Amino acid sequence: MDNKKHIGTLCVQAGWTPKNGESRVLPIVQSTTFKYDNSEEMALLFDLKKEGYFYTRLQNPTNDAVASKIAALEGGVGAVLTSSGQAANFYAIFNICEAGGHIVVSNNIYGGTYNLFGVTLKKLGIDCTYVDPTADDEEIEKAFRPNTKALFGETIANPGCSVFDIERFAKMAHRHGVPLIVDNTFATPVNCRPFEWGCDIVTHSTTKYMDGHATQVGGCVVDSGNFDWDAHADKFPGLCTPDESYHGLTYTKAFGKMAYTTKLVAQLMRDLGSIPAPQNSFLLNLGLETLHLRMPRHCENAQKVAQFLHDDPRVAWVRYSGLADDPDHKLALKYLPNGSCGVMCFGLKGDRETAIKFMDSLKMIAIVTHVADARSCVLHPASHTHRQLSEEQLREAGIAPDLIRLSVGIEDVEDIIDDIRQALDKI
Ligand SMILES: *Cc1c(COP(=O)(O)O)cnc(C)c1O
Repeated sequence: MDNKKHIGTLCVQAGWTPKNGESRVLPIVQSTTFKYDNSEEMALLFDLKKEGYFYTRLQNPTNDAVASKIAALEGGVGAVLTSSGQAANFYAIFNICEAGGHIVVSNNIYGGTYNLFGVTLKKLGIDCTYVDPTADDEEIEKAFRPNTKALFGETIANPGCSVFDIERFAKMAHRHGVPLIVDNTFATPVNCRPFEWGCDIVTHSTTKYMDGHATQVGGCVVDSGNFDWDAHADKFPGLCTPDESYHGLTYTKAFGKMAYTTKLVAQLMRDLGSIPAPQNSFLLNLGLETLHLRMPRHCENAQKVAQFLHDDPRVAWVRYSGLADDPDHKLALKYLPNGSCGVMCFGLKGDRETAIKFMDSLKMIAIVTHVADARSCVLHPASHTHRQLSEEQLREAGIAPDLIRLSVGIEDVEDIIDDIRQALDKI
């Protein structure tokens, strides 16, 4: 199928087009390996001179079909599935940034990514500078160094719910000769396609809305194909100079717009693994088939819940960019005109104990370490996902100690609001 169709059609049909007599549903190719008739053919595959499957750690037909669906949804030239969102963000950076390199990162991001970049990448010799995305350009641009390789942010921050000014950050990244990488997990390509705003690489935790049913952990890296690596060849030797592990092949020369994606598969997946099980990709694909139906319902429900919280005197504050008085409402109108997502955060009047009492009083909305699936759920980042961070780091990451993250599902909104109301009555 061509990839110029509308987004809903791509959700349902992109990635797998059966030929005459083939399975209508995406098949699960549960095989580690693939057979060839002679050794010469296999050798060509190993030299990247011919395309084909040989070992699932590098490529698998089920995984590739789902990756190409996500590439179509984002409007990219290539995509690679990973075994988690964490792996996706790691690969997106590590594919272009090695020991001695540096990245500039919005400080309002997911706690797992905050640790990955600030602590684990540091151990690999990659430095990271966190910047306040609300600061002005001049202030943010002070963070760039000669060895900077990328700028990173989240379309909608988890759990801070701020909206990233993609176009502005893309321009900043390009002024410094580096790509903008955007984690588009919460918005999904149904509500925002960052490439249309100048972003170069998109990542996803497919664990969230894309799957939508909390059945698999997965991730994805999508390349727009737009960044001109050769124009900054000194910064990106991994892409623009010969790879000794492939007999001196140069990715940009051999693969053009597919250079970044090919290197990620041929080098990083080969050496580090982290591919999803084909069974998981099958489940992810089932989720993707209804993404365009679920996202509007998440947004519609969340808008009503956010308004309810906003109007309740026991609630101290709410962050949801769909609210007219949200500090990022204007950015949301620009980047998320059809709605943002089902996730919001808020604080109750009272202390940490008040938040815990509220959550423990919920009956239908569950306390789970998850977000962005069909069922409504809550979490208190300071005591759950972000408990490794100090109070100071929490504030730096834009997370107030009283912040409750609420992920509004696709149930009937009256029942969601009733549950919240009865829990508020108990605090
Ligand atoms: C959950 C999440 C991740 C990490 O993804 P996993 O699939 O849990 O590894 C990364 N970024 C964002 C925005 C997330 O919400």
